[in-house]
Amino acid sequence: MKLNELTAHEIRDLLKKNKVSSEEVTSEVLKQIEQEDGKIRAFVTLHAEEALIQAREIDRKRKGSQSMPPLAGIPIAVKDNICTKGIKTTCSSKILDNFVPPYNAAAVEKILASGMVIIGKTNMDEFAMGSSTETSFFGVTHNPWNIEMIPGGSSGGSAASIAGNETILSIGSDTGGSIRQPASMCGVVGLKPTYGRVSRFGLIAFASSLDQIGPLTKDVTDSALLMNAISGYDPRDSTSVDEPVKDYKSGLTVGIKGLIVGIPEEYFISGMDSEVESAVRKAIDLLEKLGIGIEKISLPHTEYAIAAYYVIATAEASSNLARYDGVKYGYRCGGDNKLSLMEMYEKTRTEGFGEEVKRRIMLGTYTLSAGYYDAYYLKAQRVRTLIKQDFEKVFEKCDCIISPTSPTAAFRIGEKIDDPLQMYLSDIFTIPANMAGIPAISIPCGLTGENLPIGLQIMGRAFDEETILRIAFAYEQSTNVVFHKNANL
Ligand code: GLN
Repeated sequence: MKLNELTAHEIRDLLKKNKVSSEEVTSEVLKQIEQEDGKIRAFVTLHAEEALIQAREIDRKRKGSQSMPPLAGIPIAVKDNICTKGIKTTCSSKILDNFVPPYNAAAVEKILASGMVIIGKTNMDEFAMGSSTETSFFGVTHNPWNIEMIPGGSSGGSAASIAGNETILSIGSDTGGSIRQPASMCGVVGLKPTYGRVSRFGLIAFASSLDQIGPLTKDVTDSALLMNAISGYDPRDSTSVDEPVKDYKSGLTVGIKGLIVGIPEEYFISGMDSEVESAVRKAIDLLEKLGIGIEKISLPHTEYAIAAYYVIATAEASSNLARYDGVKYGYRCGGDNKLSLMEMYEKTRTEGFGEEVKRRIMLGTYTLSAGYYDAYYLKAQRVRTLIKQDFEKVFEKCDCIISPTSPTAAFRIGEKIDDPLQMYLSDIFTIPANMAGIPAISIPCGLTGENLPIGLQIMGRAFDEETILRIAFAYEQSTNVVFHKNANL
C-alpha cells in the first residue's frame, strides 16, 4: 500500500512510531498529483515546495519533542474560497484570479497550528455556486471513479483530490450541500458542521447565513480528527457560537444501541434513482441490526426548500459579491483609464464573473428590490423558519435523520450544465440542513451498476456532530467496502 493511499490516522500511527516521515508522505502525495492531476484537475494552485519545507520542519520538531498534535505532518488540500496567506485564493473566478490574501482564514490558522501541511488549493464551482465543479474559470474537475463524470460540487476539487489519493485530508465549504454532495459522488466522507461550529472568518462569502467550512476525508475517524482541529469559537465571526468543542474522536466508539433514527418519507420520492434508494435502505437495515431504532417521520416543508434556498442564497450573494468592482482588489477592466468609472465597474463585472454567478446576482438583486422583497425574500425567510421547525419537532423523538445525500450518483460532464433547474434539483436532500443550520454528514454506502459511489446522509441536532459521527463510524465499521482505495486510477 502506498503512503498516499492511507488515511490520516493510519499515517499518524506510522509517524508516531517513526516508521515514516512527513516529508515522505508529502512527497508521495505530490508525486500522485504530478501523475494524476492532469486527468483529475482537482487543484487550482499547488504549494509543493513550501509544503516540503513545512513537512521537514514538522519532522525536525517531532524528533525534538514527544507530544505533537494528532494531525501534525499530514498533507491537506484547501478549497480555493478559503483564504491562505501568501497563497492565491481565487474562488475559481476570473475576478479573483490574481488575489493573494494578506491573512489566513481562522480554519487555516488552526490547520497550521495543528502542524498540517497545506499542499494546494482545490478547484470549485465559481464562488461555490454549482453542484458539479463545471462553472470554474479554470476548467472542470473530473471524478476519479470515472473521468467522464462530474465530481459533484461545489467542493469538487476537495472531494476528487481525496478520492484520487492526491491528498490525505481536505476542507471544503457547504452552503447548500457543497461538501456532502461531492463527497457522496466521489465516495468519500464529507461533514457539514452546525452553523457557527467552525469560524467563517476568511471564508469568502457566498450566502453568509448558510455557509459553513467542514472536512472531506477518507473515513469517519479522519473526519472526527479534522473536526477536533478546526472547530471552536472565534470572536472574529459574529455567528460563531461559544459552545465547548467535544472530542469527536473519542466519541466515535461510545456505541449506538438504543439511538433512534428518523426516516423522512419526503426523502424517498418517486422518480429517485432506484439504485440509490436500495443502497440507502440496505444501510438502514444494517443500522437496525446494530441496535438502532427506526422511526418513520415527516418533514412536510421539504418540498419548498429549494425554492426558498434559491431566493435566500442569491439575495445574500448579490450583496456579498457587490464588493468585486475592480477597485479594491481582483480583476479590473480598462487599466488604461479610457473608461469612465461606471464603465469600468460594468465591464469589470461583466468580464470577471461567469454565467452562473451573474445569473445568481441578477436573481438576488431582483428578489431584494423594492416591491418584490415581501413577495420573495420575506416569504422565503418564513419558509426557512417552517423548515427549521420541522426538524425541531422530529428531534424531540429522534437522535438523527437518515436519507440519501443526493438523488443520483455522479452524472456526466455537460449533462446538466445548460439546464440550471435540473442542476439545482440535485441539492434537494442537502439544502434543508443548511436552512435549519444543523450538522449533516455524507458517507459512502454502495456502488451503482456503473461503479459509481452512492452516499448516505445522516443529519443531527444542532451542535451534536458527535452523534452523527458515531452512527457513521458504527456503519463504516460494519460494512466491508473501503471506498477510498477503489477509484479507477
Ligand atoms: N449547489 C448549491 C448551489 O449551487 C450549493 C452550493 C454550495 O453549497 N456552496 O448553490
